[in-house]
Amino acid sequence: MGHSHYEKITIIGAGLIGSSLSLAIKAAALESFVTLSDSSKETLEQAEKLALADTYIADVTMAVADADLVILCVPVGAMSAVASEISACLKIGATISDVGSVKEVVLTGVGEKLPDTVHFIPGHPVAGTEKSGPEAGFATLFKDRWCILTPDEGCDQGALDKLVGFWQSLGSKTEVMDARHHDMVLAITSHVPHLIAYNIVGTASDLERVTRSEVIKYSAGGFRDFTRIAASDPTMWRDVFLSNKGAVLEMLSRFSEDLTALQRAIRWGDGDALYDLFSRTRDIRRSIIDAGQDDDIADFGRPHDGGDA
Ligand code: NAP
Repeated sequence: MGHSHYEKITIIGAGLIGSSLSLAIKAAALESFVTLSDSSKETLEQAEKLALADTYIADVTMAVADADLVILCVPVGAMSAVASEISACLKIGATISDVGSVKEVVLTGVGEKLPDTVHFIPGHPVAGTEKSGPEAGFATLFKDRWCILTPDEGCDQGALDKLVGFWQSLGSKTEVMDARHHDMVLAITSHVPHLIAYNIVGTASDLERVTRSEVIKYSAGGFRDFTRIAASDPTMWRDVFLSNKGAVLEMLSRFSEDLTALQRAIRWGDGDALYDLFSRTRDIRRSIIDAGQDDDIADFGRPHDGGDA
């Protein structure tokens, strides 16, 4: 594991992902010294109570000073401001990465703030839950999940290999991808599904005033699985939609066309069209299970202790 060893790692943002990362590093016995930083005093105190890292430093410039690897685990909308804060204090030759769910905006927005003396390699572990905060973290979150790295063309190969090795030592499978392509893929696999969940729960909550008890009572009919996704962190998801606007809008317009076709099939009693689609989608579910990306419990594609975001 030698080549993937970073002596000092600083994680900025002690939420679900940041705290899980710290716990995963400890569980993998990487022998790295881990510093946690967070803009909120209460969150950092909570992280300390949970003994998530080796040290806790509120001042982000001090937290990164001698780190070999810095990972930004803050909402996408806060990434570039954090990069500005730390840029003058980074160790020469350090690697800077992140875990944001959108990549092109981070590649440019964070990249332009950082000095040429560091290696900047954006990343996205495709693993998460609907929970947030330091107490939501757990060491196995990234195990058997994909971590996508989206370096710039001029990225140093040695630094990239080392970061790939780091994620693999946490149990992740890794893939290197173009940032724009990442955003397109995640728009349809994660962002649009979340938007649909937010929307359907919103619609039902408007109806709720009329039939509140029924909505809750019969939620196992499908609605319940959407409510779990729609309970995801509001700040994180606001930022995802604001920063992946192009790809999300493109996927949504395809989605609406297909929805219109389904409306028409229902209106004209075209049972064959409905049956064909429902059979095709069932095959997709099977291939996800075959690929080991979920268990066989019907729960909107995610197990209760972890899933994809
Ligand atoms: P989270 O639990 O809300 O954690 C975010 C943390 O960042 C909070 O502790 C927050 O502090 C802190 N923070 C916010 N602005 C900051 C700043 N300027 N400086 C320092 N700390 C700051 O969210 P999360 O789920 O871990 O998400 C973090 C990142 O991971 C996001 O970019 C998200 O897109 C990505 N991601 C999330 C998932 C998922 O399923 N949740 C999966 C993959 C990737 P407060 O205590 O003030 O809130």
